[in-house]
Order: sequence, then structure tokens, then C-alpha cells
Amino acid sequence: MADKRDYYEVLGVDRDADQRTIKRAFLKKAREVHPDVSDDPDAEEKFKEVNEAYSVLSDEQKRANYDRFGSADGPGMGSGYVDFSDIFGGMGMDDIFSSFFGGGASSSRGRAQRRNGRDMAITLTVTLEEAASGCTKTISYDRLATCEDCHGSGSSDGGGDKPCPRCHGTGFVTTVQRSIFGQVQSSSPCPDCQGEGTVVDHPCEMCSGQGRTPTHEKIDIEVPAGIADGRQLRVRGYGEAGFRGAPSGDLIVNVHIAAHQRFKRSGDDLYVDVPVPMAGAALGCTVEVEGILQDERIQVEIPAGTQHGDTVTVDGRGMPRSGGGGARGRLIVRALIEVPRRMSPAAREALERFAREMGQDVNARKTVGDRIRDAIDDILE
Ligand SMILES: [Zn+2]
Ligand SMILES: [Zn+2]
Repeated sequence: MADKRDYYEVLGVDRDADQRTIKRAFLKKAREVHPDVSDDPDAEEKFKEVNEAYSVLSDEQKRANYDRFGSADGPGMGSGYVDFSDIFGGMGMDDIFSSFFGGGASSSRGRAQRRNGRDMAITLTVTLEEAASGCTKTISYDRLATCEDCHGSGSSDGGGDKPCPRCHGTGFVTTVQRSIFGQVQSSSPCPDCQGEGTVVDHPCEMCSGQGRTPTHEKIDIEVPAGIADGRQLRVRGYGEAGFRGAPSGDLIVNVHIAAHQRFKRSGDDLYVDVPVPMAGAALGCTVEVEGILQDERIQVEIPAGTQHGDTVTVDGRGMPRSGGGGARGRLIVRALIEVPRRMSPAAREALERFAREMGQDVNARKTVGDRIRDAIDDILE
């Protein structure tokens, strides 16, 4: 990746080109250099370059960063932004183009199934805090989307259909092969009309009559407060667009909640460990616990005589209940009793007095006077 070419140059557009021009240029170039249609040994490399240029220039934020800083990364890509173009296993722009060129007609299933767009799935990871308060995530991914130029009709001028010249309106093409058993006939859906039997009179230039184009999509996903790990959000119509206006598939967002450093979740309940000083556990005290919501501070009453590992339950301070109108689960606080590692001489004496009072046998009880004398003896030796 030595001398990287300018993205505008790669697509052959002006620096002030509008989105439609950029997309048109991208589709034209991609059709030329995609490995499925090009014989060029460098086709794959060239397609990558074209795709990268488009993925930046088609996103206004990335484009602005690129114009200013020469790179797509920059300020304004906030934490709510998730780009799936790289990790979209099996559904990258490359596969979408293969599906575009092949028309998605690789299977021999019925017509209806091939016309409708397929569902797509992604996994979106959020923090426990985001799951608690709800959040909006802007995600970008690649898909076949309804063509903006012809609104999915596939026709450039709203004109009508005509019988497909390749299959003469049957929707199937028949191939005959000679074999040792004689002639073998097989029929498969016509690639030109996707088994439709008809093609548009004047195909739309942008989508070649398919009614859909490979597109970098960018949408906002609303993650509701209290969402459970593993829940699916369905975004209607944001999967693969259908062929020539047929129904689109949905985008299925699998929500994954990342493990939290402090909190463990069980249903709507949250578990948290809190250090409690030894004396506070014995005498009773109040400790402050940071809650899961932003700036939330919870005063937790630790009763006198609390043992290490005992729990205190606080109602209504756990995870918000999904669709629960502000209701929340429980916060279960586990006390971890802390023994002082260092003490002032006075504190030590007090503790020694306490031990004597309780009839406990403890080590090396020396008064302050004893220890001052010991220290002086050490120096004099
Ligand atoms: Zn079109
Ligand atoms: Zn046909």
C-alpha cells in the first residue's frame, strides 16, 4: 500500500461531486473491475480500491474527515458509531456484488423466494450502562438497497415490461449437454430476468434494471433501556432489497451486552461487591455505591454485625425493566470486609483494648511508651 491513490481519482469524480454522482461512478467502476466479471489478474486489488474509495466518499462524515485530514478517521466518529464493513463475515461488498451480478439466482428454488430480498443479520455489542439507559447506535454496513433512481422499478422512464429476449418469456433457460448417456437437458432460472420472463423496456442505468444497487447503508439503531443480552431487534426493510420492487428482507440486529467490570447481571437484578471497613461492619454504617445509571449514587445501609460475604438487597436500583415504565430490578450488594493494613499507634492501642475486652489472644501488645523505648534502644546499640 505504498502510494495510495486519491479516492476522487479512483472513482473519477470531481471533489464537489454529489452523492448520486459518486454512487453512479462507483457502480460503473465496480462493474468493470469486479473479479466476477473482469479477466484482469489485478481485478481483486482494483475492486478493493474502488470499494474503499466509495466506502469513504459515500459517508458524509468520513468524506469530510478525508477532505480535511486525508484520512476517513477523525473527530466526529463518536462512540455510537459502529462500522460493519470490515467484519461483516460473508456479507461484504464483494459478496453483495457477486449476488448483484449473479442476481442472487444461484439456488434453484421457486421464483417468489428469489425475488424477495433476504434477511441480513449483524451482532451489535453494547455496554451494560448503554443497555441500562438505552442508546442510539449509528451502524454502517453493506447491502443491496432499493435503487434511488428508479425507486425499485428497474425502469428508467416508468415504461413497461417486455418479454425477456434470452428465455423468450419462459423464465428458464435450457442447456443441452452431450454425455455417454446421450443428450442431457437441464433447465435453470434465466439469469437475465431472474426467472421473471419479462425485462423492463428501458432499464434504469444505475441498477441495470434490477431495481436495487450495492450500497453502503448507514442507519440509527435504537437500543431500548433494559434490553436483555441476546435479544434481537428487527429493522424492517433494511435487509437485502427485493428484485425490481419485490419486498425487501429485514436487518436483524443481535444485541450482545459486554461483560462489566463491577456488575454482574441476572435478569433485572444487578450484583455488586463493595468494600466495608471492619469497624463499620461490626457497628453498622452507610456505604456509597455507584449505580448503573449515569451519576447515580446509592446509599446502602450496612447493618451492625455484617459478616464477610453477607448481602444487602436494595429494591429498585438494578437494571431498568424492559418496557417497565421506569421500574427496575434489585441491586444486591455483597460486603467485602476490609481489615486495616496500617494503623496509627492510637488506633492500634484501641484495637488491642478491644481485643482484651473481647477476651481475644492477640500478638505483640506493646504500649506506645514500650515502642518508643525499643526504638531508642535500637538507635543506641
Ligand atoms: Zn434503478
Ligand atoms: Zn429471461
